[in-house]
Amino acid sequence: MKIRRQKKAQKILGFYQHNFDIRPPYTVLLDGTFCYAAIEGKVKIAEDIPKYLGSLDTKLITTQCIILEVEQLRKLKRDLHGPYMIVKQFPVHVCGHEGKPVPASSCIKSLLKKENPKKYIIASQDNELRTHIHECVTGTPVLYLHRSAPTLEKPSEKSQADPLNANKTITTHEEKTLQSLKRKLIGEEEVEPERRKKKKKNPNPLSCKKSKKVKKPQQQQQQEMKEGKSKRKRKKHKKPGAVHHHIQQEAS
Ligand SMILES: [Zn+2]
Repeated sequence: MKIRRQKKAQKILGFYQHNFDIRPPYTVLLDGTFCYAAIEGKVKIAEDIPKYLGSLDTKLITTQCIILEVEQLRKLKRDLHGPYMIVKQFPVHVCGHEGKPVPASSCIKSLLKKENPKKYIIASQDNELRTHIHECVTGTPVLYLHRSAPTLEKPSEKSQADPLNANKTITTHEEKTLQSLKRKLIGEEEVEPERRKKKKKNPNPLSCKKSKKVKKPQQQQQQEMKEGKSKRKRKKHKKPGAVHHHIQQEAS
């Protein structure tokens, strides 16, 4: 099972290497939510992450904004002492907010910009941040802990559609073929059936601090209303867990 997981990780990393030139030694930027989940799942970050990525000289870094945020929150929640002690062990990367810190997720977003120029792998359990990366940033591998297993997210549609080195002159037909090939390479059947029922755990307080409103495709609804379709064809989107279909979790 472990080998299968690592093979999958290598496939995903291969995609990023080929399309976005993200190659070992990797730089993993991790935040407080990830450290919190690592304690919960008894994950030894410094050992387990490089092993999972298949590159033992992986650099694990954080930023001052991230450390300061956990430090602040620690005053309110005592169980954040552990994550604080862990996150501050990692080398601090200069983020440009020195002297005027910003929230951790804003700090990470500002470092990533649109195309992740520094080629980070982001390690976070923050759903809002991960959704932002999926929707707004290309070429950014996202690592999270699935229970206690380090797991790389499948490349987003945006990354699959906009590889930096894509030949801009290729035709639509060629592009479609390329996309379907890529999907075959990365695989669509990422979700495996859950074998055990998830134990209910306390939510990660660092990733719950923001409201997570899910944007509904309102424009589409309005469009349908205009066209008078909504009364006749009201589709129910009731698939459980379909909200973040791009953050599919795998059973380990
Ligand atoms: Zn910062």
